[in-house]
Amino acid sequence: MQCFPLRGNKAAMTKSLKKLIAGNWKMNGNSAAALALVQSLSEGVAAEPALLGKNDFVVAPPYVHLAMVKAALADGPIGLSAQDCALTQDGAYTGDISVGMLVDIGCNYVILGHSERRQYHGETDGQVAAKASLCYEKNLTAIICVGETEVQRAEGRHEQVVGEQLSKAIPAGATAVNTVIAYEPVWAIGTGKTATPEDVKAMHSFIRERLKEQLADGGNMRILYGGSVKPDNAEALMSTENVDGALVGGASLKADQFLAIARAVK
Ligand code: PEP
Repeated sequence: MQCFPLRGNKAAMTKSLKKLIAGNWKMNGNSAAALALVQSLSEGVAAEPALLGKNDFVVAPPYVHLAMVKAALADGPIGLSAQDCALTQDGAYTGDISVGMLVDIGCNYVILGHSERRQYHGETDGQVAAKASLCYEKNLTAIICVGETEVQRAEGRHEQVVGEQLSKAIPAGATAVNTVIAYEPVWAIGTGKTATPEDVKAMHSFIRERLKEQLADGGNMRILYGGSVKPDNAEALMSTENVDGALVGGASLKADQFLAIARAVK
């Protein structure tokens, strides 16, 4: 299965022209719903080859559904992501799931530093960086989330906050092959509020410049936008400069909406 065309040293020297459309299912659904969703997505993608011509796809089910979803995805074109991973390799860490286990079960990606993990579990940039390093050891692509709160934006500190997250949460060894950045303004996640294309353009261009300063191939690293992406705002957001795809929460739970977002990519 090829889920990320930048894999391989040579390919990493150029930026993928395809968008990456990633669905974060969060802690939703049961096994029947997860199976129905992945089957609908697989069928939808297979029925519309044009979607794969312009997008790569990845879904991030809850841990307990990963194996079942992987079996349903089989060797198809949709990649598999976990929503987090442990801070350590295997060992006496009750309740944790290691990157080795995620690879074993067929994952290609891991979402790290989602604002809900930062907010409800006190996850820090340092922990995100440590987890990303573990991902690199196992050839997993880290989707590192950054984004400011509503108060931070109102105070005009959004660039400072995101700049600090980028410098602390991206570890040594990060490349455009093993890392994707997801800019998700916290105030836009699950709220129905979306950043305007102008705000997104400004922040993505800020992130691009920082990535170029920080990393040899930062110009090629994918930067996703996340925060209430829906079929009706996807075209404007996905055609914004430096937006290389979407991290989709709520709308990824409905196959028709997720596919409509991918269809909106021009
Ligand atoms: C998310 O959880 O990453 C997200 C962007 O959620 P939503 O699309 O529901 O705002």
